Amino acid sequence: MKSSEEISEIKEAIKRIALENAIKHEGKAQVKPVLGRLLGERPNLRAKIKEIASLTGEIVKEINHLTLKQQIETARKLWPELLLKEKEKVEEEKKLPPLPNVEKYEQIVTRFAPNPDCVLHIGSARAIILSHEYARMYNGRFILRFEDTDPRIKRTALEFYDLIREDLKWLGCTWDEEYIQSDRMEIYYKYARELLEKGHAYICTCRREEFKEKVQRKQPCPCRSIPPEQNLSRWEDMLSGEYGEGEAVLRIKTDLNHPNPAIRDWPAFRIIDTEKHPHPRTGSRYRVWPLFAFANGIDDHLNGITHIIRGKEHLTNQKRQEFLYRYLGWKYPEAIHYGRLKITGVTLSKSKILQAVEEGVYSGWDDPRLATFRALRRRGIRPEAIRQMMIDVGPRPADITLSWKNLYAYNRKIVDPIANRYFFIDEPKRMIIKKVNRDFTASLPLHPDDPKRGRRIFNIKSRDGEAHLLISSRDFNRLREGSLVRLMELFNVEVISKKEGCISAEFHSEGYEEARRLNLPLIHWLPDSEGISCEVFMPDGSVVKGLVERNLHQASVDQVVQFERFGFVRIDEIKESVKTFFTHE
Ligand SMILES: [Zn+2]
Repeated sequence: MKSSEEISEIKEAIKRIALENAIKHEGKAQVKPVLGRLLGERPNLRAKIKEIASLTGEIVKEINHLTLKQQIETARKLWPELLLKEKEKVEEEKKLPPLPNVEKYEQIVTRFAPNPDCVLHIGSARAIILSHEYARMYNGRFILRFEDTDPRIKRTALEFYDLIREDLKWLGCTWDEEYIQSDRMEIYYKYARELLEKGHAYICTCRREEFKEKVQRKQPCPCRSIPPEQNLSRWEDMLSGEYGEGEAVLRIKTDLNHPNPAIRDWPAFRIIDTEKHPHPRTGSRYRVWPLFAFANGIDDHLNGITHIIRGKEHLTNQKRQEFLYRYLGWKYPEAIHYGRLKITGVTLSKSKILQAVEEGVYSGWDDPRLATFRALRRRGIRPEAIRQMMIDVGPRPADITLSWKNLYAYNRKIVDPIANRYFFIDEPKRMIIKKVNRDFTASLPLHPDDPKRGRRIFNIKSRDGEAHLLISSRDFNRLREGSLVRLMELFNVEVISKKEGCISAEFHSEGYEEARRLNLPLIHWLPDSEGISCEVFMPDGSVVKGLVERNLHQASVDQVVQFERFGFVRIDEIKESVKTFFTHE
């Protein structure tokens, strides 16, 4: 056997490794990795593996009994370097990879350019957060640009300008400048004329199918060779209403041999009958509207965007816009194209969301079944969680799939230390406990890691030797005759009989030690005299009804709290009754 000095030294080493492991894993160390590390550091201990393993088991248990906060305090006292490492790692994870060619620009300018045809949802989070974060990282500017030049199909509506601004503010992505494309029509017209004059564009009056057929065969349509003067007069006719919808488009000349037919002489302006489809901001003032690739390309240059951060589905647009930039003598901004980000179980189709909200399938933009920022906000998802997740995903070009669970893990890290705990009894059932011969007082912390926040006190009266409690129907269904169960922080009971929504039970013992010895399940409860009626709106559209403890009156609207053994919820309304939205488990 080793000397006691050696043993205490080994114990110290195990404690250090276990603490580091526990802090890394939200307060719970695992024996296996701790043992592995120890044997890695001290291979000679392999000879005594059995003893060492049981010693490690004991120490890990001790460490896990501490709260995360206590673990961190202990580490800070004994091995501050453990925390340093952890901190450095966290900061390292937060950082985005550098942008290319930063040194070429005086100031980095990025943008987010939504179409105000819907509220924003999680599918836009990456473009917004990366663009904003890069601008901040380089002390640059972040621009918000509303791209609202399609009054017919991607129909803009006035309400969305403000809703989008609110979404961005909630995300913490404030912008330094704002542009609205429908204010800039004369600018686009000016460049249209310039391109026509220089022979880089033409007005095509062919039927769409005819043009398409020709261009597929890499052949020009007859309009391509008309002289600039005639093009300019056709342009004026477009503006003045000589042509109807679909009768004329302005096309940018490209390479008719370009391998991608979608690039060949792409359309930059078309006519929209704004008498029929008025624009919400400009009414029927304009009939000739730029298409996305044109207005977006022009503005990126005029807004001084240095770095465009967007999905790779925009690569075709870049190819289109490069012709434009060449003709105008401009340099194309740095463009970073990230891969597809799929989020499983989420409806991200704007048209589907719009339709369903309009038809009343969803209660509004913040219906908990939606993945709009407004819905996430109402459910208690914190913007920092979304932000951190997107920064970790970064601008990588590979496709990636995330799920709700990933987002919940980020959010849990943020809300768990903040959320106070309460008892919520969903679909309450009665439990009458006999042989309760005195009154009891149960006291539970508002937060297990932070005793300073105070405690919740319950007084349980003995009425003729009986205590009357409520338990959740989930627990009710699990309990059988003869089951022993511990009522959290109160006492242990035995189920005697069960009928018609009521359990008869008997006092068994008081102490937690006894419950631990017998390995009893712990359930939560409420005195039957106590309880505010409470609804929880679930992400699947269902509503769970129950009672929540009276102490919840100390909480306030908008707080995220944890209903013990149920999940985190955001408080939406506290009146006579309480309304909450389910966040996650
Ligand atoms: Zn033509």
